Order: sequence, then C-alpha cells, then structure tokens
Amino acid sequence: MKTILTAKLKLHTTSETGQRLLDTARAYQNALNYTSRVAFENGKMSNQVKLHGLVYPALRERFALPSQLACSVSRQVGATFKGLWTKVKHNASHRKSGYTQKRYQGLDKAPVFTANTTTFTYQRDYRFKAGQQVSITTLEGPVVFSYEGYTKHLDLIQKGSSGGVTLGAAKLWRDPRTQQFYLLVSLAVETPDPTPESLKGIKGADLGERYLAVTTTPGNTTQFFPGGAIRHKGEAFQRVRSRLQSKGTRGAKRRLRQLMLRERRFKADVNHRIAQAIVEPGFLIGLEDLTRIRERTAVRGKRNRRRRAKWAFAELGAFLSYKAQVVGGFTIKVDADYTSKGCPNCGHVSDKNRPGKGLTFRCENCGFTLHADLVGARNVTLRTLLIRQDWMGTGLLSTAPDGSDTEAKAKRLQRFLELRWSPDPSPGL
Ligand SMILES: [Zn+2]
Repeated sequence: MKTILTAKLKLHTTSETGQRLLDTARAYQNALNYTSRVAFENGKMSNQVKLHGLVYPALRERFALPSQLACSVSRQVGATFKGLWTKVKHNASHRKSGYTQKRYQGLDKAPVFTANTTTFTYQRDYRFKAGQQVSITTLEGPVVFSYEGYTKHLDLIQKGSSGGVTLGAAKLWRDPRTQQFYLLVSLAVETPDPTPESLKGIKGADLGERYLAVTTTPGNTTQFFPGGAIRHKGEAFQRVRSRLQSKGTRGAKRRLRQLMLRERRFKADVNHRIAQAIVEPGFLIGLEDLTRIRERTAVRGKRNRRRRAKWAFAELGAFLSYKAQVVGGFTIKVDADYTSKGCPNCGHVSDKNRPGKGLTFRCENCGFTLHADLVGARNVTLRTLLIRQDWMGTGLLSTAPDGSDTEAKAKRLQRFLELRWSPDPSPGL
C-alpha cells in the first residue's frame, strides 16, 4: 500500500540565491500564464503533447526556462485545462438533469496562474545531495541549498528508494508574509498492507463541533479535543471576513485573501495536531462516515450548520488516514446511523436519549447517562470491533458504508444495534 505525503523543507537562502529562486519562480509563472493563453486560443487545448509543441520554443527563448521546467509548464497547463473540461462536462450533465441551472464559467477565459508555485521534477530539476543539501535548477543553472524540516520527513528522504520511499515532484513556494522559500516535496511511502492481526488496538472517534474529536478504546482510554477556543477563533475570522466582504475595495479584497489563507493554515495546523495525537502504531481507528455530519447538523439549526460547515472535517479525516498509515495503523469508515442516539448500554434508540440535543446522553429506557460525544465514540468503537472481527473471520475488509446497497446496509445496522458496551469488552466480543 502506498501513502502519499508532502515534506515541507525550509530552504536556507542568501539574498543572492533567494533572488535566483525568485527570478525562476517569476519566469515560471509568466510562462504558465503565456501557455494558458495559447491553450485557450487553440480550442482550450488540454492535450499536453500538442501544447508542448506549440509553446516550447517560446518558453525556452522568451522566458529563458531550462528545458525540463519548460516541459513542466505545458504539463501543468494541460492538466489544468483537462480538469476544467471535466467540470464543464459535469456541469452540462447536471444542468440537463436539472440539478442546477447555473452554467460553469471556469473555461470562459484563460485560467490565470496566481499562486507562486513552481514545479520541479525529481532528478531533473532538483536532486538531494549528501549533508542535507538539495540542488535546484534555476534560470542560471543549479544552485545548492541546505534545508531543514520535520525529522520524520528528513528520515524518509534519507531512506529514499532503497527504503521504500519514492520521491516525486516538488513545488517551490514562497510564504508571502515572511518571504521564506520552502520546497514542498511529495513522497510516496510504501507501507505493508494492514491485516486484522497487525492491528491489535481499536479506537473509535466521534467528530463534532463542541468537541472536535472524542475517542475511546474498548478499555475506556479516552481523548477529548474541545472545540470551544478554536470555534471562538473561527467566529472571529468570520466577523472580520464579513466586514471585509461588505467593504469590497481592492485593499479589502487583498486582506480578505490573506485572511482566508491564514484561516486555512490555522485549521490545517489544528487538524494536524489532533490527528497526530489520535493515531497510534498497530491501531485500527474507526471514523463515522462524514456525510452524516451534514445530516446531523441539519437538525440543529442554521447557525450551527454554518458553524459546523466551517470546520474542515474532511481534512481531519484525510490527515488521520494518512498519518495512521505512516505509523503502521489504519482507519476505516463506519455507518454513522444512530451513533449519537443509540444507547450503548441497552441498545435503545431514540431522539429523546439526547434531551435538548445537549452535551449529556440520558437513555430514556435504562437511564444510562454519559457525555454525549463519548457515547458516539463508544458506538463507533463497537462497530469498529465488529468490522475487525468480520475481517478476521472472512479475510476481507468490508468497510465502505455505501448508500447504494440499502439491503446490505440495513443488515449491517441490525447487527450494529445488537452491540453492547461492557466494562471491558473483549476483542472477540
Ligand atoms: Zn439504555
């Protein structure tokens, strides 16, 4: 199994070498925009080979790009047009079937490349050297930089292909605030396929708004990640955003863009830390199917829905999935139906088990009382245990809670509803 991740390397630059990177990045960006216009004028061309033939001489002469970077430009622009064409086609079929009336406008004019990112191909435009150094192609030939990064990422780079790590393309990125250059290197890490025997630990996670995540193991080791302070900060972002949006001046728009970048970084940072704290080697981690989160917030009113929509749960799920794989764990999705209103003590399912949709779960049948999000986490854990048990029995991991097969789902839910939390449920149930 392959896991893809990105190593963020901070490059040590001098004013001279920094300028070289900057010149290269600018030439690359100009070349992207030139190529985008040529592709647009030639029938919105997405064929990378044909596009390459049209622009290559100009990229070499007018923009002075080294040959490999020129190749990357036509590849990148071709791929962008291809992606936009896919959206146009989807939109056309959606309009035909009445899902939407809006016409997709992404291909009405040539896409503009604003992000200051330059793509470097491994072993051609950039290569690693001994002593934690990297050589990067610039307009005036290769320049060698020393760098720093997360120890785990540096180890993976060091291992290289002999250690099951495949290095891919890298992007040069300059932080607009600090002017610091980073090389974002994509790594494919070969990890052994998970087996139920290799995953001895079980953990279930409930993702929510008051607590961004609550987890438990069958042995009642729990983790709580409160969302209060973070939500507060998110709402502060929202207030500034509304103000800037209503202003609408150019300066306001620029600050809005910066604010949104900062907010995205903040969320990603929080999600990284939560995911890091949850994953453990040899653990099978159960997560609720995320579609449920939207459904569940729908009943809690507009204000909460807006608030919830703002937290990047899909991102947290993705971080959990890849971080788990890197450390030798694994994540699965379980059906989320009734996880918040089913009693893990007696099995009774009712909306009334959550008086006032509050933070306390109180079973109207047996009186069992517990933190509501922990009830969710326990139900997810029970389902994860059952899936692992099936996996051991059949040798097949059946994960996907798929909405398409309603009969199979009903059967699964029936089995889930028979699960009970005991003081120390044995792994075999
Ligand atoms: Zn009960």
